Amino acid sequence: MSKIAVVVLPIPLNKPFHYSIPESLQSAVSKGTRVLVPFGNRKISGYVADIIETTYIANIKEVYSVIDDAPAVDKNLFELAKWLSTKYVCSLGEALSAVVPSVLKPPKRIFNNKPEHRFGINKSIRPTLTQTQQTITDAITHELKNHKYEAFLLRGVTGSGKTEIYLCAIEEALALGKSAIFLLPEISLTPQFISIIKSRFGDNIGVWHSKLSVGEKYRTWLSAKKGEIKIMVGARSSVFTPFEKLGIIVIDEEHEQSYKQDKKPTYHVREVALERAKLSNAVVIMGSATPSLESYWRAQNGEFRLFELHERIDNKQLPPITIVDLNCLSAKHKIISEPFKNALIKTLARREQAVIFLNRRGFSPWLMCQACQKVWQCHNCSVSLVYHKDSQELVCHYCGHRQPIPDKCPNCSSDHLSIFGIGTQKVEEELKKNFPQARIARLDRDTASKKDAYKNIYENFKNEDCDILIGTQIVAKGFDFPRVTFVGVVDADTCLYLPDFRSAERTFALMTQVSGRAGRSSLGGEVVIQTKHPQHYALVAAKQHDYKSFYEQEINFRKELNYPPFCGLVNILLRGKKAENVSKATDTITQELLKWKKENNAAIEVLGSTPAAIEKIKGMFRWQILLKGKADILINALMQMKNCSLPSGVIITLDIDPQDVL
Ligand SMILES: [Zn+2]
Ligand SMILES: [Zn+2]
Repeated sequence: MSKIAVVVLPIPLNKPFHYSIPESLQSAVSKGTRVLVPFGNRKISGYVADIIETTYIANIKEVYSVIDDAPAVDKNLFELAKWLSTKYVCSLGEALSAVVPSVLKPPKRIFNNKPEHRFGINKSIRPTLTQTQQTITDAITHELKNHKYEAFLLRGVTGSGKTEIYLCAIEEALALGKSAIFLLPEISLTPQFISIIKSRFGDNIGVWHSKLSVGEKYRTWLSAKKGEIKIMVGARSSVFTPFEKLGIIVIDEEHEQSYKQDKKPTYHVREVALERAKLSNAVVIMGSATPSLESYWRAQNGEFRLFELHERIDNKQLPPITIVDLNCLSAKHKIISEPFKNALIKTLARREQAVIFLNRRGFSPWLMCQACQKVWQCHNCSVSLVYHKDSQELVCHYCGHRQPIPDKCPNCSSDHLSIFGIGTQKVEEELKKNFPQARIARLDRDTASKKDAYKNIYENFKNEDCDILIGTQIVAKGFDFPRVTFVGVVDADTCLYLPDFRSAERTFALMTQVSGRAGRSSLGGEVVIQTKHPQHYALVAAKQHDYKSFYEQEINFRKELNYPPFCGLVNILLRGKKAENVSKATDTITQELLKWKKENNAAIEVLGSTPAAIEKIKGMFRWQILLKGKADILINALMQMKNCSLPSGVIITLDIDPQDVL
């Protein structure tokens, strides 16, 4: 009698399927292995959740083949997947496919050139810790030795030596025979950073990011599983690294938005790390100069142990920040104000370097007809097309649509077409005009996408073959050079008034981060921020390097308006090609939710039920419903949606704890 595999599949349906195990696979199939099974007329991979003797289901199909020669998920990771599926409202199969992506399978070709791993730690390059660093490291080590779960939040000003604390804590974990996961935003995973880590820990390290090939990913994953490597440095999904004896998870730049996954399951890596650490009796260290409001609040309420580093290493000063009011300037000075220009002149005269920052978001030049005010928009998306000077094209940054620049307006035939808004190219032009002698480089999405461009610009700047570097978010991280003494923010307002409750928090974090690039050495430094809203509390607090005062004001707003951390939030996004169907579906769901709320006297708020801030992307109309309330009540409310019959062609996405609601 052949045995039966209970298989969980990566489909939205939360029920396992039964397959008989053919004689030839009996020994290979075990709990936790992945198998290939027939489903409809395809073959898909699923997880063996259990093996049973008999089934009540007639005519079951056979397991086709076995993918892994050992279980792909251990007990802890299986528990983590269950937690993911509950918390983020997806099926267990969908959660498991986030834990072990389906691309992770043995390649057809067998790799024989197994790399030699050089274990061991290079203690010779370990700098002496300051008193504060030592105190924090001791506290972490204490918990590591106790084999107990604990979460630490480190708030340390830029340049205060947080990284050294992470590295020492990882050393301690390794010394205890445990493994470590070091999470960074994808953008910080530069070759420079990896080489710093490698010089400290040798080849004991795996690196995990989206640019790895499928084969590289599988080999790295397998090395971690076999214990051939003990440290995984990587972006979001490396939180699922299959280490058997996990000791520590570090989350650097804890406030970063990229730690939230936007596709199903829509998890936040911080929450996954905390849950995983609880299951493994491990320690979590979260660090940032500007912790997310939620995390700082949780630390205030005793959920995390808070440590603060108020000083930069070697008593270097945080750079003074000047705020320039753009309202008082004439139009011709609006890109670069006098104080901005003067600071640059001084910097260049001293043969030092400058970083000029523009926010990527909402900061792009667009084309407008001066006669009839027509703004060129994307046909597929309700956003303006962005003017690209280099290629002389209008480009949609959401769907990639491109078109040549028109000669005249199709509405009114006027040829008075003008470019509005400032982009990095415009700033570059302006700086070149003002500083013809300076060597100027630009690093943004356009230039960085070219092969080796990032590396070349980085090396040039590092070798001081470049005086002024203009860039977007990319330059806010990792560009720590001793000769950078001036940082200029061209316009701080671009993300201040986005229709999103996190706009102020994001602006404060970004200004703090960018300012932190200045004055990392004894040369000192200064920062100029240009804005039309000089009195905004986020900018005033950033100027004073005062996280606490920003936190106090912002947390009061959140409390007053009932936003996270004072409630849970779910963004229900409905998309479809027919506007009418999408709006009808939104109505149906809203009614169902309101009915449930009334019947159960539930403490939830049903908001929105309107078109999203960006109404259309890639030809799909977007509507949203925003739910507020306690997390567990919200999950119950979402269950009601199953009862709704919806028009066809409408896709629903649930974003649990959304990072933005645009
Ligand atoms: Zn016109
Ligand atoms: Zn588009």
